[in-house]
Amino acid sequence: MLQQNQDNLSAAFDRQKAAFARDPFPDIDARRDRLRRLLALTEDHEAEFCGAIDADFGGRSAHETRLAEIIVVRAGIRHALSHLSSWMADKRVPTAMPFWPARNRLVPQPLGVVGIVSPWNYPFQLALAPATAALAAGNRVLIKPSELTPRFSDLLASLAAQHFAPDELDVIVGGPDVGKAFVALPFDHLLFTGSTTVGRQVAVAAAANLTPVTLELGGKSPAIFDPSCNLDTAVASVAYGKLLNAGQTCIAPDYLMVPKGQGAAIAGRLAGAMAKLYPRIADNPDYTAIISDRHHARLTSLVEEVRARGAEVIEVNPAGENFGNTRKLAPMIVRNAPYDTRLMQEEIFGPVLPIIEYGDVSEAIGHINGRDRPLALYWFGKDKAARRRVLRETVSGGVTINDCLMHIAQENQPFGGVGPSGMGAYHGEWGFRTFSKEKPVFVQSPLGAGGMMHPPYGATFERT
Ligand code: NAD
Repeated sequence: MLQQNQDNLSAAFDRQKAAFARDPFPDIDARRDRLRRLLALTEDHEAEFCGAIDADFGGRSAHETRLAEIIVVRAGIRHALSHLSSWMADKRVPTAMPFWPARNRLVPQPLGVVGIVSPWNYPFQLALAPATAALAAGNRVLIKPSELTPRFSDLLASLAAQHFAPDELDVIVGGPDVGKAFVALPFDHLLFTGSTTVGRQVAVAAAANLTPVTLELGGKSPAIFDPSCNLDTAVASVAYGKLLNAGQTCIAPDYLMVPKGQGAAIAGRLAGAMAKLYPRIADNPDYTAIISDRHHARLTSLVEEVRARGAEVIEVNPAGENFGNTRKLAPMIVRNAPYDTRLMQEEIFGPVLPIIEYGDVSEAIGHINGRDRPLALYWFGKDKAARRRVLRETVSGGVTINDCLMHIAQENQPFGGVGPSGMGAYHGEWGFRTFSKEKPVFVQSPLGAGGMMHPPYGATFERT
């Protein structure tokens, strides 16, 4: 079976390589046609995608899938369609005076065959947003979606086959074994979205082929309440940002930092804000379930460990429901968790929010800089000096001020991590550039060819 998968995988890759060799620079009409077919795929099958993802999660509302995935991907495709001609244009760049009247140009060129490996948490967005950028840049695209969303992955594979020739865009389904074989192929670029642990393995596999990689990874993203913040809007925003997709979001606030002495009061207000968003859990279609029993058990064990070590755990279950054998997990706010616990060390990736207290802005910055560089950072407040210090003295993939998550939705900004939370970026023009070779071309003038740089050097150097 594995051998058969490997043969299929190699055949799919070779087919795309050959197609790229036949047409190494698809013109703008060909690229627009591919992007429009991708748009049609998202429009014509929206209900099927929502249904498949709902079934894979064991409960995720179509609203959440539309809002956080389908609308985002469509906006990205429309943005690419409207900017494609300027992105594709050769760019004139200055030429230093000694070379005049020659001219410099930067010519964006497709790389070839791009591999995309995507995770389960936003399966639609994280497969198709990178595919948008890769197609816009004129590449062939192979996607390996997650085995944890099997209905979605099978649906994507069959719909992709209806909307695209396999040498344009193809989907390879399978688990980690297929993933390993996939990233061992000599792609012209790989974009991997997933955990930091697997990201390291992907980087090693890509290095063997000198395949450039973009790594979109995870980590513990902090939210900081400055003493100057508006607490009502800040708690509402963190409640939303943490509980979207039940916390299974790469840029969810992982933990919350609040001024010393305010932890108990803020925990109470947060619990109120969470209860307002989700007055019921078990039968509330707006509240997403945890993706698998294994992930559910992991989250429960993270909480049990800190409870056993004396932390306070506030469960936000306003209707006092019993979740039976569903994979729903009530929001939890945790105070006084010891730092050497898994909850405080690992990316949580679920609806559990630890709160820690800090003394002043230097202490908050020191705490963040004592850990891996995060994918996202959220800062709430009005104090411009404190805000400037946090922005200048911490390094993170992206920042939203006075809200959560919003920086990811900006097509005019790059999205990507830094250090253990990732390398490289995409979205909008950054995606186009990631999947292009920006080729510098020097165009010599008939007046400039030969001459002063050629030997005999003596006379030239005596003049300079
Ligand atoms: P994961 O790393 O377990 O799996 C991601 C993908 O890699 C899956 O398709 C999987 O089949 C494949 N895979 C597994 N082992 C592999 C291997 N050895 N070689 C090649 N491929 C392999 O991640 P996950 O659990 O699906 O996703 C959750 C993680 O993804 C979290 O850490 C989250 O923060 C991160 N994430 C990051 C972003 C971002 O944009 N930065 C977005 C979403 C999720």
